[in-house]
Amino acid sequence: MSDRTSLTIPKELLPHDGRFGSGPSKVRPEAVQSLAEFGTTYLGTSHRQATVKDIVGRLRQGLMNLFELPEGYEVMLGNGGSTCFWDAATFSLIERKSQHLSFGEFSSKFATAASLAPHLQAPEVIESEAGTHPEAVVRSDVDTYALTHNETSTGVSMEIVRPVGSSGIVAVDATSGAGALRVDPAEFDCYYFAPQKSFASDGGLWLALLSPQAVERIATIKASGRWVPAFLDLSIALENSRLNQTYNTPALATIYLMLNQVEWMLQNGGLSFAVGRSDASAELLYGWAERSTFARPFVQNPRDRSHVVGTIDFVDGIDAARIASVLRSNQVVDTEPYRKLGRNQLRIAMFPAVDPADVEALTHCIDYVVERLS
Ligand SMILES: *Cc1c(COP(=O)(O)O)cnc(C)c1O
Repeated sequence: MSDRTSLTIPKELLPHDGRFGSGPSKVRPEAVQSLAEFGTTYLGTSHRQATVKDIVGRLRQGLMNLFELPEGYEVMLGNGGSTCFWDAATFSLIERKSQHLSFGEFSSKFATAASLAPHLQAPEVIESEAGTHPEAVVRSDVDTYALTHNETSTGVSMEIVRPVGSSGIVAVDATSGAGALRVDPAEFDCYYFAPQKSFASDGGLWLALLSPQAVERIATIKASGRWVPAFLDLSIALENSRLNQTYNTPALATIYLMLNQVEWMLQNGGLSFAVGRSDASAELLYGWAERSTFARPFVQNPRDRSHVVGTIDFVDGIDAARIASVLRSNQVVDTEPYRKLGRNQLRIAMFPAVDPADVEALTHCIDYVVERLS
């Protein structure tokens, strides 16, 4: 077996950049270069001073521009990544009862966090089979609808639409979808994400786009006197964000790399450019899989197929894990499927930083490997 996994893929077939991980994801080399140049006056300086605050300010403004946020919307950020944001949301966003669309590992985790919070009512959790997504159902006692733009574990994305007739707020986990999938800010109140997916930076930070209704919700809960740990208190996070700061020390390199990616998107035409890159990659990947005799898209309904995280099943007799390991030995990395999904599958990230030509090259590499392994 070690013989077979040491198969060498010809250089001319290999992608220029072999990073296809779903998070941390490919960081553009140009961004790293820019950080190296700017770093001497930025890294290792106070996050309460103008140099860093300017960068945070540019990031907040860049996101306002990228998502074309309407008047009254705000950009908030804090430490801890999206997982931390779920806990913050159980304290500072959900008033009494939430409804969760649960269709994979990530969306189920927020549902669990809400169900364990002693100060909340039991949430309503609407599940669907892996590879599909459920729809929200309007309820009079639900004050927060928890949606997920892209379920990174299964490669299913859903269109973000405000449940018709609901008065609750719409909180969207857009960790892997933000910056790569189309979204209308009128359809959400809180759209939160982290930098290590479409924003081609490192993890550890969360960001949230807030509508005036979400800002009001945070204030209402604060005024109610609910005990909230300071680190998870979104009213404190918002206060700091308005000053272009975080409550405690952030990773400065992460912020800089993310800003570089946001400005790269903006300079090239904004969200439509970024979405277009992922659309082009998705067309190449799924088109190849549909033509293939041994591979097929895991997600049946083409409309639900994620354009940022592609999940590709392989027929019996073709071992996807072996393909991933051969690819890895040729520096094409992180195509392994989400562990807990337990399928004979590859998972391929197609974030905007990934060149569609590299996705196409990857499909040729897979063909090459399969021909020689079977
Ligand atoms: C990656 C991911 C998360 C977890 O993000 P962290 O920053 O690691 O906490 C949550 N939700 C989705 C949809 C993700 O893709």
